[in-house]
Amino acid sequence: MAWTTAARRFADRLTVRHQTAMLTGLLCIATVGIVTGGAALLARDRATVNAHRNLAAMAQTMADYLDQNMFERYREIKNIAGMEPLREIWTGDATKARSVLNQIKTSLDDYAWLGLAGPDGTVRAATRGMLEGVSVAKRPWFANGLKGATVEDVHDAKLLDSLLRLSPDAAPFRFVDVAMPVHDANGALAGVLGAHLSWNWASELRSHVLRKYDARLESDIWVLGRDGNVLLGPNLAEPVPAAWLQGAKSGQPATFQDLRGERPMLTTLVATRGEGDYPGLGWIVVSRRPVDVALAPANSLAMKIGLLGLLIAALGSALAWKLAGTVTGPLTQLCSAIDRIGREPGSDNVERQHGSRDLLQLSGALRSLLRRLGTAEKGAQTAREVLRELEIKAEEQARASDEKTRRLGADIHTLRALADTDPLTSLFNRRAFLPFAEDAMNYFKRYKRDVGVLMFDIDHFKSVNDTFGHAAGDEVIRAVGKIIAGQVRTTDKVARFGGEEFVVLLRETDDAGAVLLANRIREAVENTIVTQDLAHLSITISVGAAMAGHYDRDIEDVIARADAALYQAKSGGRNRVVMVQPKMVLTQAA
Ligand code: GH3
Ligand code: MG
Ligand code: MG
Repeated sequence: MAWTTAARRFADRLTVRHQTAMLTGLLCIATVGIVTGGAALLARDRATVNAHRNLAAMAQTMADYLDQNMFERYREIKNIAGMEPLREIWTGDATKARSVLNQIKTSLDDYAWLGLAGPDGTVRAATRGMLEGVSVAKRPWFANGLKGATVEDVHDAKLLDSLLRLSPDAAPFRFVDVAMPVHDANGALAGVLGAHLSWNWASELRSHVLRKYDARLESDIWVLGRDGNVLLGPNLAEPVPAAWLQGAKSGQPATFQDLRGERPMLTTLVATRGEGDYPGLGWIVVSRRPVDVALAPANSLAMKIGLLGLLIAALGSALAWKLAGTVTGPLTQLCSAIDRIGREPGSDNVERQHGSRDLLQLSGALRSLLRRLGTAEKGAQTAREVLRELEIKAEEQARASDEKTRRLGADIHTLRALADTDPLTSLFNRRAFLPFAEDAMNYFKRYKRDVGVLMFDIDHFKSVNDTFGHAAGDEVIRAVGKIIAGQVRTTDKVARFGGEEFVVLLRETDDAGAVLLANRIREAVENTIVTQDLAHLSITISVGAAMAGHYDRDIEDVIARADAALYQAKSGGRNRVVMVQPKMVLTQAA
């Protein structure tokens, strides 16, 4: 989890160009690495095989040269020993025999000594007369030569060493002996013809082969005897491993790395086989070359291929960086263009980008999206402006409407006041009075709150009109209304019921209180002088009172009873108060 988060953060820091170049570079390096690695390995294998082959060929050549040379000497001595014309010479004058032997030696430097030993082992004739008269009966070449053709393996010079040695410090002479029996003219055994081949010829062969196969002479060639002793080569501290000899004798040249020394050596062993009737001495040729030297061409080739691969990978990565730049350049430009839209007020869209189909598509889609956004933005702006205008209009209309409503309300209020008010006295009229009266009646019914009604009528008002005029009548009506309104509580309602009749609704007042109030008003009117056009008028009123009772259905019943009480007050002589109880009539005289 932490790893993926870190990888994502890392990726976020890199541009597409970086990532493309990096991935392509990695791909390039991986591909080139695999290809060149494989090629280098194959080339190294091939070069290694070649090195092995070269080493084996060198050993084989040396072995073949040894066999061939030995075969030639073997055949030469054999031919000479078997030559018919020479038979008499072998048994005749020793001088002649010596002469023949000297001639043979002259023909080939490799012959160190040639001699003819008689059947008893005494040397009869020899090159340069060396060892003549000396017995070689104990020498293996003589003993074996008596029995037939023989080849004796490399050995140090014995009898001849002192004769041939040039200085006491020189290395001892080493010979390979070839010996053949010789016969006289009658075919009887006349002795043994022996030839000592100087082992130096093998050294020369070795130098020749080395020069041929390894000009820098970093290789070495040894010759081993069949028992593993070194016939040609270094003085080894340890004998060669027995397995080497075993492997070589099996016939197939085997190449391996000898890791015993300080420097690993590539080593090949090839056994000599003899040639023709030369049976061979079982010599084994060992060719050696340091592993680093042998495989140097292989390693150098692998190195060159590797370097080439690195170069190709580097070029590929550079090319990938360049290509990624070309591919992602338009994308970067597009990003900058989009970035500008957010920052610079003037720019509202991007250029169409070229470079790839996806990019063309992307820039096209962006252009269309930005156009659409631009249109929407303009549309939204227009909508906002229209909305603002509408709001202003609505506010204006609302203000106007409020004013109208207010005026209307005032008008309604005025009209309602006009409708409810009696114009002459400014008291409630009958229409305005009744709702209050009904409301009070409901209270009485629900809470048993006392409700009473007083009905007033000016006595003999007709005569006021008739005597003093209608205006004086109006003045009287106004004066009486004023007196009544001045006597009652603010919670009580006074109304002009029509003509010269008034009504008062009493709340929270019992029978006695109602009569008391009625009388006070009656007395106040009686004691009032109304002045009109120099005339002083004195008037009285009659009052009918009624209290709401259980049997009353509504306020009209109470008003009707008050009206009846008023009639009784008129009938009873006027200027008095009469209260009519629901079931009984209570009359109280003035
Ligand atoms: P009573 O004592 O029996 O009530 O005698 P009255 O003269 O008052 O008799 P009535 O109630 O029948 O007379 C009322 C008169 O009041 C009749 C009418 O001309 C007069 N009247 C009614 N309304 C007005 C008004 O608004 N102004 C004036 N000046 N007179 C009115
Ligand atoms: Mg009247
Ligand atoms: Mg009257």
